[in-house]
Amino acid sequence: MRTLERKNAIVTGSTSGIGLGVAEALAGAGANVMLNGFGPADVIERVRARVAAEHSVKAIYNGADMTKPAEIAAMANDAAAAFGSIDIVVNNAGIQHVSPIEDFPPEKWDAIIAINLSSAFHLTRATFADMKAHKWGRIINIASAHGLVASPFKSAYVAAKHGIVGFTKTIALEGAEHGITSNAICPGYVLTPLVEKQIPDTARARGISEEAVVRDVLLAAQATKQFVTTAQLGALAVFLCTDAAAQITGTSLPVDGGWTAH
Ligand code: NAD
Repeated sequence: MRTLERKNAIVTGSTSGIGLGVAEALAGAGANVMLNGFGPADVIERVRARVAAEHSVKAIYNGADMTKPAEIAAMANDAAAAFGSIDIVVNNAGIQHVSPIEDFPPEKWDAIIAINLSSAFHLTRATFADMKAHKWGRIINIASAHGLVASPFKSAYVAAKHGIVGFTKTIALEGAEHGITSNAICPGYVLTPLVEKQIPDTARARGISEEAVVRDVLLAAQATKQFVTTAQLGALAVFLCTDAAAQITGTSLPVDGGWTAH
């Protein structure tokens, strides 16, 4: 059912993984989408064209770097110019670095805070007035189970994700009387490039094999022993954009196979 017909969305970090899954789900529900993220131009163009054609929506792309506030603001302006309004913002772009604190590179800390946390502030700031004016808006922050609980060697990531859970609540309060909801989705492990890349680093940090990382670290606490899928996260994002979810705001919704139930 095309419940999001005539809605316009920006999904950051949507050239890959969860962001792409969420963008596809929103487009599947009829929303126009602005894709964002890095990757080879021809691959991104193929993804953009496919999303537009498969779902009969407008799909456009902006390559704004989420570490650069001016580029984020320009991306919001581009989306508003192309679509006429911005109704849905999905702050999803994120990176990871796994290292014991004493070796954690300060530049990795800065990059993780900028991409995983500050970019959500900059994009929400740039789009909120438009949502208020239209008396309807949806802010969806892709946090993590690591927004609710910690794991060792992920100091910057856990700090950023806990930060975005707090940011989500503040924006919920600011949007509450303007038809704007703000929620965080907290996925457990999803087998995307971000997770695939950290398997060797975690193996090194813990001195164990890569198979042991998947079995004993990644899925150890995930009670279902299964990875979450991007389609499951996309379906939740679509639901949060429906009127049925209008009273769900300020929450952090775990989709983590029971991880944070422990
Ligand atoms: P991914 O690596 O597959 O995708 C990340 C996306 O962000 C890509 O499109 C990439 O190009 C983009 N990106 C990275 N740096 C950027 C920058 N500076 N500017 C613009 N775009 C940038 O990762 P993923 O696993 O899909 O992660 C997406 C989000 O979900 C992240 O916020 C991550 O923390 C969160 N998350 C992932 C998992 C998981 O298990 N994969 C679990 C919980 C939360």
